[in-house]
Amino acid sequence: TGETQEWLQQYVDDWVAFYRKHINDGSVATYIPELQKADPNDLGIAIIGKNGLSVRSGDTEIPFTLQSISKAITFIVACMDRGVSYMLDTVDVEPTGEAFNSIMHLEMKPVKKPLNPFNNAGAITVTSTLPGETSDERLEPVFQLLETMLGYRPELNVDVYESERDSSTRNRAIGYYLLEMDFLESDLDITLETYFKQCSIDVSIDDLARIGMILANDGMDPKNGEEIIPRQVARITKVLMLTCGMYDASGKFATYVGIPAKSGVSGGILAAVPPRVREEIMPFTDGCGIGVYGPALGDKGNSIAGIRLLRHIATQWDLSIF
Ligand code: GLU
Repeated sequence: TGETQEWLQQYVDDWVAFYRKHINDGSVATYIPELQKADPNDLGIAIIGKNGLSVRSGDTEIPFTLQSISKAITFIVACMDRGVSYMLDTVDVEPTGEAFNSIMHLEMKPVKKPLNPFNNAGAITVTSTLPGETSDERLEPVFQLLETMLGYRPELNVDVYESERDSSTRNRAIGYYLLEMDFLESDLDITLETYFKQCSIDVSIDDLARIGMILANDGMDPKNGEEIIPRQVARITKVLMLTCGMYDASGKFATYVGIPAKSGVSGGILAAVPPRVREEIMPFTDGCGIGVYGPALGDKGNSIAGIRLLRHIATQWDLSIF
């Protein structure tokens, strides 16, 4: 009802205003020069419920690139294309407890496969399984899935892509490790080009909230009952989001927030809140997707104000899946 809507809006506006003050504890990513241009003062959130209820607050209109959030999308596409068991043979599903761009586990014997699809080593390996000769051909199913979920085709941010490509020594080092271990299914250069492009797709918080809502609903679009992502793939993706989605802060995020989520160094966070069983009525009890943008990052590479805002909302509305 309109009353609920107004009440929700008031709360979320107050919380965003409060957590905006926390951005001073973080700073924007600098290792990709183009990302440095983000305004650290920005903070915005969009929440889209399964039943159509939605709230948006703060800086809602600023586009940002998917970055690591793209790892969830390419993993889904690869599972839909190759099958789940093939992908689980290709990349493990274990958290590393290390930074996203860590090389360490590729050196620790015996290494049978990259530890998970959400660190760079695993993500680049997943990207190498996408079919196609060129990076654009390989990204086509990624764009198609995004288009189905979002209702429009998002665009590549060429400036971010070029910046990322031109400052990619570490990802190239990871790529050569993967090549040496025989983990890659296709050409390294094309795989890296595809990977940098997937990270550089522009989205909004509404887009992330929509994707989160579909994942929360086990891959089904609640509007028309259409299965966009197979249930099993949606479930595994949420498991990975919970265990590996917030870099080496995933354990703390699961503890204090308790929601499957994936962050990116651009400051975006995609969260999927499945339905919960509750005695009393709480907002979004039947599930929702949440998109957050706050480019000031904490020391683990997650949006600092974004995480605190999510923690607050999850506590207030009892969103934890546990
Ligand atoms: N494009 C970034 C990289 O590979 C993605 C990292 C991230 O968002 O964590 O370094």
